[in-house]
Amino acid sequence: MSGGSVTVDLASIPAGSGAIGWPLRSISNISDRFGARGGSHKGVDMLAPAMSPVYASADGVVSQSTEGGSGGYGAYIRIEHVIDGVRVSTLYAHLSYGTRTVEAGQTVSRGQVIGGVGRTGYATANHVHFEVFVNNAKVDPMPHLGPYGT
Ligand SMILES: [Zn+2]
Repeated sequence: MSGGSVTVDLASIPAGSGAIGWPLRSISNISDRFGARGGSHKGVDMLAPAMSPVYASADGVVSQSTEGGSGGYGAYIRIEHVIDGVRVSTLYAHLSYGTRTVEAGQTVSRGQVIGGVGRTGYATANHVHFEVFVNNAKVDPMPHLGPYGT
């Protein structure tokens, strides 16, 4: 996340397809969105208290689970899904060290706790940097999320 942060009324966020669940139930704010920082920011930064549970966004299989993330991810998890026949992946970065509950190859269910919020890697505050990939290309996660809290 950058220093710029605005308060977002989560209830005002229009519902997307709802195919992907929110990775957090405790978001205090959304700072940088997809396309921020001149287009270089390829995820959504969701601020939440340290150690808040992070939830798998859909049924799937863990492809990456590590504390040594490259590119500033810190501790992160990536999960592979097939949604309506399309390959979708979700990625959850900056988790607190020692909180990952799943390893690569493990099957997970939507809503399963996979780790805790932190600020590992390039992070200046506790948050989840959340990425969504469709056919391995990063896309804006927001249109894929349902109403917050679902
Ligand atoms: Zn980010």
